[in-house]
Amino acid sequence: MARYTGPVCRLCRREGQKLFLKGERCHGPKCAMERKSYPPGEHGNQRRGRRRPSDYAMQLREKQKLRAIYGVLERPFRRYVARALHAKGVTGFMLLSLLERRLDSVLRRAGLASSQAQARQVVRHRHIAVNGRVCDIPSREVREGDVIEVREGSRELQSIVQSLARGYEVPDWLEVDAANQTITVRRLPEPDDINVDVDEQQVVEFYSR
Ligand code: SF4
Repeated sequence: MARYTGPVCRLCRREGQKLFLKGERCHGPKCAMERKSYPPGEHGNQRRGRRRPSDYAMQLREKQKLRAIYGVLERPFRRYVARALHAKGVTGFMLLSLLERRLDSVLRRAGLASSQAQARQVVRHRHIAVNGRVCDIPSREVREGDVIEVREGSRELQSIVQSLARGYEVPDWLEVDAANQTITVRRLPEPDDINVDVDEQQVVEFYSR
């Protein structure tokens, strides 16, 4: 159940790109990448544009990026990679599919939360039910046909109401009933449904060395 609790914008600055970890703030002028887009640390500003990184360094960065986007620590992430390696199909896609099928990812994709961290908190605080039963496990894997709903007493929750009001482009594999704050998993995600700015092949190569 552990999670990363350090400075979040630092992760974007380290990767040199926006990872959209803070919801609304990421789209405004307060985004740290708008103000200081160089790597964090005392000498970060001088490290810009230095020599070409090694293959290992590039693979490592892609892996760290993917972990940050889904808020997964190293040990559970390794388990996802191991499952993807053993699953039928393209390993990189299988890895992304497993991450997308996490309950917190589904809430974010469906627009009920503005960031992965917020989605995780909504689940941990027992505001969500899956198939009629309360679920407080953010990593719970959804299956085809699952119905995820905000519990009746939590329907006025500001974070959820505001996220839904903002609107979000929902992927085809999910069906959202915003009025009833319910999500139905129509099918499992396909490659075209997943739009993450990470080279997942490099991540697989990192663990295949
Ligand atoms: Fe990254 Fe969002 Fe922070 Fe900007 S505001 S640096 S996108 S987490």
